Amino acid sequence: MASFTLQGIPVSRGITIGRAHLLRPAAMDVKHYLIAQEQVEAEVERLQQAIARVQLDLQSIWAELPTDAPTELGAFLDVHALILSDPMVSEMPLDIIRTRHYNAEWALVTQVDALSAQFDEIEDEYLRERKADIQQVAERVLKILTGSAHQIPRALGVDERNANMIVVAKDISPADMMQFRDVAFTGFVTDEGGTNSHTAIVSRSLGIPAVVGLGNASHLIMQDDWLIIDSDAGVVIVAPSPLLIAQYRNEQAVLLKARKKLGKLKKTPAITLDGVEVTLLANIELPEDAHAALEAGASGVGLFRSEFLFMGRTGAEHQLPSEEEQFLAYQRAVQSMKGKPVTIRTLDVGADKPLDHSEHNILNPALGLRAIRYCLKEPQIFLTQLRAILRASAFGTVHILIPMIAHAFEIDQSLAMIEQAKDGLRGEGIAFDEAVQVGAMIEIPAAALSLPMFVKKLDFLSIGTNDLIQYTLAIDRADHEVAHLYNDTHPAILQLLHMTVSAAEKADIPVAICGGMAGDIKLTRLLIGMGFRELSMPAALLPEIKQEILGTNISALESSIKKILRTYDPHSIQELLIGVREQVFVPQS
Ligand code: PEP
Ligand code: MG
Repeated sequence: MASFTLQGIPVSRGITIGRAHLLRPAAMDVKHYLIAQEQVEAEVERLQQAIARVQLDLQSIWAELPTDAPTELGAFLDVHALILSDPMVSEMPLDIIRTRHYNAEWALVTQVDALSAQFDEIEDEYLRERKADIQQVAERVLKILTGSAHQIPRALGVDERNANMIVVAKDISPADMMQFRDVAFTGFVTDEGGTNSHTAIVSRSLGIPAVVGLGNASHLIMQDDWLIIDSDAGVVIVAPSPLLIAQYRNEQAVLLKARKKLGKLKKTPAITLDGVEVTLLANIELPEDAHAALEAGASGVGLFRSEFLFMGRTGAEHQLPSEEEQFLAYQRAVQSMKGKPVTIRTLDVGADKPLDHSEHNILNPALGLRAIRYCLKEPQIFLTQLRAILRASAFGTVHILIPMIAHAFEIDQSLAMIEQAKDGLRGEGIAFDEAVQVGAMIEIPAAALSLPMFVKKLDFLSIGTNDLIQYTLAIDRADHEVAHLYNDTHPAILQLLHMTVSAAEKADIPVAICGGMAGDIKLTRLLIGMGFRELSMPAALLPEIKQEILGTNISALESSIKKILRTYDPHSIQELLIGVREQVFVPQS
């Protein structure tokens, strides 16, 4: 097969080389995960039972057909029963489970996809349309399968079989991405998505090479094709030559060595050459990520995206996590951080992080009932979470962070709910930290433009640049069609950042950045030059940001930063930024 290269949007770091594993397009949305060897036969049986159940269902529908039913209906049921008993449908997927270790749903749709592709080639229109029957039969089986609760296997372990799998998909939901995290996938390639879509964020925090927004990759790449992902360049090379693979393997080794070297900075504080300390924090999605945060030398967790505890729950687990389950998760993160602060953001669901699939029908999800809007509409869910967070505060330093604030009443109502949760706990004699700090995410332009409205009521601010950019520039952060308009140094963004850091300084409260800009090394000097002293980012990026800070002299950058903030011409901003980035400072002895 001839080699070819695809260019997409880089969202993560590093290089990976492996074989393509195609996920079914989102339309037939099923879970994709690998089955551990010892569970393979149970999974085979699960699929066999679902197929048998559908056969019985079809028989009973047949038997109960009213006498005046059209004769085509019976024939239609016969066709479905025949399809279901065809070994191509009833046996091939079992082989796929046994050989590739796919879960039953994935195995079934993989086979149905292959059959559908064959039907597409048929010239006879009537026969070609039988593809729809196969898909309908598969959907019946899938309904039975997904109705039964199942567990995603946690750690599968790295071995030869799964060590080099690269997931290729039209799109991967953040929830599905989380389910791949402990399985040894080494890269992600998607047709859709943007730099700061939540899928991209998750791949960055997993430290896994990924390229998104490739347009048509999931159709051009075939199952088991060899792929090289060069994340930094946003490039995917399909069917590379052995020589190219060898070159990339060398590069991979060099990167690994550099990363190891950076690891030595773990205990070094991030202090500039002129003595200004910057606090570097980590963003986490699940409590177990706290380990990577500590390993990277983070001074705490600046953003715990708690919604990942709520997403991707299927079958019997579909209900929301209870107060106890949440408490245990928050407590685990807090205890893992060994006294370092943990900022837990309250539930930020909606937009590209839906709680369930019905939310996909909302007209404008990013502008809809997202984050604090959802929580204030569902006070019982909010209160349960606040109680769980407060209970965890008895085990370390916890800060509460409220997302998507735009109105003063949202702060007032959130603070009132926190008081209500505290009262309840006090009444029950349950311990919590009375002085727990409460802050707000500044990620809606309205909030940045009206900070005096609520800044006095808060203990701290944290800027979510991903959403701030999305809402200021009116571009969907997950839509690759407008990804080229995603510009974090647009003068409007720089002005909003500047206003926020100035207002926080005036109100004498700390302000952090926890959006993607905090982990972008090209912007580190700009941000600390503007006055930011707390940056929160995926743990994997922290060491190189620290190295950048160690080599910076902030006072020497003052006039360039002022100039950038007075400049409205994008090219001049870029030139000034390059100057700031390339300035070399000599350490004073
Ligand atoms: C942000 O918007 O920058 C942010 C940190 O929150 P999230 O990416 O989870 O929306
Ligand atoms: Mg946000």
